[in-house]
Amino acid sequence: MKNPYSTGRKAVWCPGCGNYAILAAFKKALQELGLKPWEVVVISGIGCHGRMTDYLSTNGFHTIHGRVLPLATGIKLANPKLTVIGFSGDGDAYAIGLGHLPHAARRNVNVTLIVHDNMIFGLTTGQVTPTTPIGVRTRSTPKGNVEHPLNPVLLALSSGATFVARGFAGEPSHLAWLFKEAISHKGFAIVDVLQPCVTFYNTYQYFKKRVYKLEDEGHDPSNYEAALRKALEWGDRIPIGIFYKTTRPTYEELLLKQKEPPVVVKPVDVTKLYRYFR
Ligand code: SF4
Repeated sequence: MKNPYSTGRKAVWCPGCGNYAILAAFKKALQELGLKPWEVVVISGIGCHGRMTDYLSTNGFHTIHGRVLPLATGIKLANPKLTVIGFSGDGDAYAIGLGHLPHAARRNVNVTLIVHDNMIFGLTTGQVTPTTPIGVRTRSTPKGNVEHPLNPVLLALSSGATFVARGFAGEPSHLAWLFKEAISHKGFAIVDVLQPCVTFYNTYQYFKKRVYKLEDEGHDPSNYEAALRKALEWGDRIPIGIFYKTTRPTYEELLLKQKEPPVVVKPVDVTKLYRYFR
């Protein structure tokens, strides 16, 4: 039987790519949450991950490079009843789109961002990104990367995100659980997914040997300082799971209280705007 969230299109990622596990885990999460495809909007950016919108039968928007979060914010403000989920890559979210991440986090926009973090530009055949470790040889760093990598978990925590998690594409059941928790969270949720790019930077065995689950070691996700300490752990052991989770009013709750009701409740006439841009 066809999965209710599948478009039926055959995915064309490289065989063994971590994107397959992310797609399967995401569909499992939607199914277990009982969300209807028409209640969900998924947005994807530019990169190999961008095809997620082709394979999901939810509402979908494949946007321009790095602009997943502004679009997700606009959609949520226009219709707060929708479940809005953005997919982005490390090149998309942490390079060209980085300016949007801290602001979505501090505003606490009620959307989920899932980052396919393969630490390489895969679609353009293997160049360095902001999360590529030091020393890695890529097509743009043939003698080894010399740039200190960005820490997405630490960045999200310090920007005020109310849900911060890391998953691994090699742990698909755990990933589906993380997606469910993130989507159910009221506020800005980010899941940075360690996603091996088997063609240009295959980290599968590296992470398989090192990842451990925070919840197995009694980590308290309500403890911000403990989350910061765990965010700095990267070496022989790499934590996955929920680093931090808290609640505070969402952006749309606060903003829509002050302004006009959302567009879906009180439609606006866009004819003049349309003529202006035509
Ligand atoms: Fe996946 Fe890498 Fe192939 Fe892109 S290039 S589909 S990220 S394995």
